[in-house]
Amino acid sequence: MSVKVCKFGGTSMADGNVINGVKKIIDADARRKYVVVSAPGKRYSGDTKVTDLLYACHKELVEKGSCKNGFAAVRARFNSLVKELNIPFEINALLDETEAAIDSERSEDFTASRGEYLCARIVAEVLGATFIDAKDVIFFNEDGSLNGEKSYKAISFAVSGAERAVIPGFYGKGYDGKVKTFSRGGSDISGSIIARAVNATVYENWTDVSGFLACDPRIVESPVKMKTISYKELRELSYMGANVLHSDSIFPLRKANIPIQIKNTFRPQDAGTSIVPSAKYTPSGNLVTGVAGKKNFTVIFIEKSHMNAEVGFMCKVLSVLVEEEISIEHIPSGIDTMSLVVESNDLSKEKLETVIEKIKSAVAPDVIRVIEDIALIATVGHGMSSSVGTSARLFNAIAAADINIKMIDQGSSELNIIVGVRNDDYEKCIRAIYSEFFK
Ligand code: ADP
Ligand code: ASP
Ligand code: MG
Repeated sequence: MSVKVCKFGGTSMADGNVINGVKKIIDADARRKYVVVSAPGKRYSGDTKVTDLLYACHKELVEKGSCKNGFAAVRARFNSLVKELNIPFEINALLDETEAAIDSERSEDFTASRGEYLCARIVAEVLGATFIDAKDVIFFNEDGSLNGEKSYKAISFAVSGAERAVIPGFYGKGYDGKVKTFSRGGSDISGSIIARAVNATVYENWTDVSGFLACDPRIVESPVKMKTISYKELRELSYMGANVLHSDSIFPLRKANIPIQIKNTFRPQDAGTSIVPSAKYTPSGNLVTGVAGKKNFTVIFIEKSHMNAEVGFMCKVLSVLVEEEISIEHIPSGIDTMSLVVESNDLSKEKLETVIEKIKSAVAPDVIRVIEDIALIATVGHGMSSSVGTSARLFNAIAAADINIKMIDQGSSELNIIVGVRNDDYEKCIRAIYSEFFK
């Protein structure tokens, strides 16, 4: 039988009216049996997401021994939501229980997960559906990775017999038996896990935009919408900053070839974007599918004559980063040069100095230089890098916008070209690339 898993993001849970709209969407299609929810997000620009209120609660708990103030904001948010829904739900009793549990657990992950937990309890009531706690069905291994097989088994068992079920996103049970969250935006991954476990026909990801757009709509007004993209393009774009979908969302779906459909809760009539396995993908004809990026990287540039002839040169450099437990985003290299691109957040001033000293003593470079405040921008599309003249168009467009390119990396996936520019040039650069390939 055809079954859909629907994940509703934070803005789709923002208040009672929106949740009533979600109920209409679910009621409109009997295949929408399994629902994954995020914590209530922003109701208006300047509002605070419930998850952020909860992270603040944890901070208060650590600093002051209690989170009375912070939790009052969470309480107010859920109280008004239940009032708007006008349902007989004992929200205050549940909030009291939750506040006491936060106080006794004293764990950041547990506290942060309560937004999804409370929201799912309410949505289950609204839909007359079975509530399934993610802690009982999503499991992590000792190294923090997902224990897929155990989770899929537990989910199929838990949903069997349930006409409709609601599962909170964003968390599961860690190896130590305690609640553990995914990284931010992780409810998208929870939705993928449920979709895989029930072998869904489609994973519908309901959000506040009508699909995957060619670039961030906060930078370019009304960018072109993509009708279909491949898993691979999704992975490249979301990893590089198109955070409409978490970049790890495709892993549970890949083996089972389950497509994702991005849909807009506020415009359910819009077709949205289909994200399909690469084998089933027919290119749109556009050279470029999308542009995405992230700010705040540091580049360590190393130059040494005949570097490529020196056996083990790269290995020695990389060993330094392994020793210092720093992960590397990219390693663009030339005959006598190599650059290490690292997230600035992973490098304190002291750590950077240690790394430089260690590289100097490991390989004695002619030049070693650090370039800070770099933004990376990926231009993504199947076949793009094999099409003659694409890079020239890209670099010319950036130059015409008077932007200095600090670094270039053509990924070996042949799916993207990444440029590094100054943080300050980030938005301007995205607009320049968008205009070149989409206007
Ligand atoms: P949800 O709460 O539903 O999970 P998110 O805020 O995580 O929603 O993701 C949706 C947002 O992603 C959009 O409102 C949009 O501002 C942003 N976004 C960034 N890049 C893109 C893109 N390429 N396409 C669509 N949305 C994008
Ligand atoms: N509520 C969590 C967050 O804000 C997870 C999610 O929304 O996907 O990151
Ligand atoms: Mg999200």
